[in-house]
Amino acid sequence: MTTDKEPRCRFCASPLRFSLVDLGMSPLCESYVAADALNQMEPFYPLHVYVCDTCLLAQLEEYVSPEAIFTEYAYFSSYADSWLKHSKAYTDQMVSRFGLNARSLVVEPASNDGYLLQYFVEKGIPVLGIEPARNVAKAAIEKGIPTLVEFFGEKLARELSGQGKQGDLILGNNVLAQVPGLNDFVKGMKVLLKPRGVITMEFPHLVRLMQENQFDTIYHEHFSYFSFLAVEKIFAAQGLTIFDVDELPTHGGSLRIYAKHAADMTKPISRRADDLREREVAAGLRQMPTYAAFSEKVKETKRKLLDCLIRIKRDGKSICGYGAPGKGNTLLNYCGIRTDFLDFTVDRNPYKQGKFTPGTHIPILSPAKIEETRPDFVFILPWNFKDEIMDQMSFIRDWGGRFIVPIPEVRIYE
Ligand SMILES: [Zn+2]
Repeated sequence: MTTDKEPRCRFCASPLRFSLVDLGMSPLCESYVAADALNQMEPFYPLHVYVCDTCLLAQLEEYVSPEAIFTEYAYFSSYADSWLKHSKAYTDQMVSRFGLNARSLVVEPASNDGYLLQYFVEKGIPVLGIEPARNVAKAAIEKGIPTLVEFFGEKLARELSGQGKQGDLILGNNVLAQVPGLNDFVKGMKVLLKPRGVITMEFPHLVRLMQENQFDTIYHEHFSYFSFLAVEKIFAAQGLTIFDVDELPTHGGSLRIYAKHAADMTKPISRRADDLREREVAAGLRQMPTYAAFSEKVKETKRKLLDCLIRIKRDGKSICGYGAPGKGNTLLNYCGIRTDFLDFTVDRNPYKQGKFTPGTHIPILSPAKIEETRPDFVFILPWNFKDEIMDQMSFIRDWGGRFIVPIPEVRIYE
């Protein structure tokens, strides 16, 4: 590798010399292909995650501008029932723990279609959504969620606080991983936070990703992969202290961090934060060989999955997919799974139906197609919702259908 092209850490600017995993070339995982575009060229970008040996932030280089990714984003959060339940429970917890009321302001950068802020609105708590994808923001506004069509950062935060708008609660679920300008984003939250306000951020936990082979949660839209050790440094650099943390089962294992101004002495540091830091150190997250071992585990996961699929096809059985999530596309492209294995996949999101998966061109149909075609196996791509999906789709057992779950390691459910 030449030094002039050497990538640098988006937090501390150190050169990135260590690989976490290299998943080869992949298209943008949300760029579903329309039928009339199937014969056209598709751009592929490297999906290579590095880990910074100075600050421990695991990250992808920014190959594509966020404008290209997020201005017409296909992901509408409101389509997953268990995610809505999670969001409602979060709202109840925050309102009671931090005493939010009609005089408070809840701000959410990357508020999507307002699926979360709607629960604050229901309780009469003022909200402000910030969402760069125009089509998604429009859906929020139609639901009565005040939403700015903007990218969030220090500049917007200064404008808002100049207008007297500061947050009692600033929240972000799965946005921190998606911001290329990480320091600008965290600085923005610092500027927008009231003196005694609270920031909560949820993101997939790097430790769980590594321990459970969740390499399919790596895609171009996720620029950063955080351990507690790394995120603590990133917040501290902007004068924010993480005073509590929850470990959540969502997205295969996430952290919810709670941050405050470093100068705010009204909130004690919880024991949970110290415990987690110690556990990460004990798990070897400060040593580079820990990260290198992950790479080998991913390759073996691919080989085992392909073994299983090849065996099923040689037995003359049919397989269809369930779901067409972004993570599915990383898995399908990395493993080279196309219509040679999956006849089609289905998705409840009408935006995706009739389109094809990026790179692998598997047709995405309506879930009704499964009952119609009675496949022998249903391959669950959004494995983090596998219990919910197997429950909903339990009727496939009527014709002897079985489920395939690819992660952490391929497993068949009768
Ligand atoms: Zn770094």
